[in-house]
Amino acid sequence: MAFKSQPKGFATKAIHAGQSADQWTSMCVIPPIVTSTTYKQDGPAEHRGFEYSRSGNPTRNVLEKCLASLDNAKHGLTFSSGLGANTAILTMLSSGDHIVISDDVYGGTNRLFRQVGARLGLEPTFVDPTDMKALSESIRSNTKLVWIETPTNPLIKVVDIEAVSKLVHERSKDIIVAVDNTFLTSYFQRPLELGADMVVYSLTKYMNGHGDVVMGAVTLNDDDLHKRLRFLQNATGIVPAPFDCYQVNRSLKTLSLRMEQHQKNALEVAKFLESHPLVDRVLHPALPSHPQHKLALRQTYGYSGVFSFYLKGGLEESRKFLKSLKTFTLAESLGGYESLAELPSVMTHASVPAEQREKLGISDSLIRISVGLEDSDDLIADLGQALKATSN
Ligand SMILES: *Cc1c(COP(=O)(O)O)cnc(C)c1O
Repeated sequence: MAFKSQPKGFATKAIHAGQSADQWTSMCVIPPIVTSTTYKQDGPAEHRGFEYSRSGNPTRNVLEKCLASLDNAKHGLTFSSGLGANTAILTMLSSGDHIVISDDVYGGTNRLFRQVGARLGLEPTFVDPTDMKALSESIRSNTKLVWIETPTNPLIKVVDIEAVSKLVHERSKDIIVAVDNTFLTSYFQRPLELGADMVVYSLTKYMNGHGDVVMGAVTLNDDDLHKRLRFLQNATGIVPAPFDCYQVNRSLKTLSLRMEQHQKNALEVAKFLESHPLVDRVLHPALPSHPQHKLALRQTYGYSGVFSFYLKGGLEESRKFLKSLKTFTLAESLGGYESLAELPSVMTHASVPAEQREKLGISDSLIRISVGLEDSDDLIADLGQALKATSN
């Protein structure tokens, strides 16, 4: 069995979409970093497309066009971080609106909806999005947004985007289905094609992939939603810097190559871990042992380098293991060329209430790793020696 096959043209779009030299009077081939905050007008309120860099910036435009094209979307918007993108979407809502959100989302997203959204009068309900009955029952007459992440973080559950979108839109076309696509990128998963209304990214991760930019994005097709979000991008001021836009735009040129290699390395590492006696369970959608393996093959074009596994033992063993790693770096984040490992229960997901963590299975023996682009033999050797050190 194999993943969906990737239609041709992705790499070409990543390299050329939005990048035309003809848009610059200098005819430069590589888009310039435009740092100017303001733009000369021909007459009062007569400008040539740019007035002020919060409302529009040429370097940002190039990146937004390229991002939209990778999702086969009409529109793309960037924000100063992934959570900035989430915040912009949150400000589309009004006090009294109800949100349905995956119970197993990125810790910061959980915190934003639970602690900030709730204070602003938004009512969040957390559900398991792989449970269609629970999802259906959670939708109310005032539900305005359904937020899913697939695969989920850190438990790597695969959510059926098509089924969720269908179920939600049957209830009401006005409910926005947003999918956080950070873990797979537009290379491996394109939620708009499956019926979602918005795709949200932390570009900080794979899309930039070099661990040196914090940025977020939204892609979408609907003109009205785009207009509202474009207004909010300017009105809330959650915009990225031109230099960062340049870096992410540059990184997209190698996205397909990087993702192919992340996939290859991670699968080798996952197989090694699955066969290791000190590993209890590996959560990787490309392995037949994964509960939603078939759905993953049907829904996505491949799998990235981030996945989780349960060590045998508890907090003590996890600490020993993580401290023994040499090639993997013990750090939060994911999606860069360098391999990282972390303990969600005390690091990325420490802000999730303990009770919810326990219910979900985010225990002290759950390790999340982000397999980078190093030689896979070196990565496997590193994990092997750290596992050995754990049992000593
Ligand atoms: C990192 C991350 C975010 C938040 O993005 P920032 O760029 O750090 O603000 C949101 N969702 C997922 C899945 C992430 O991994």
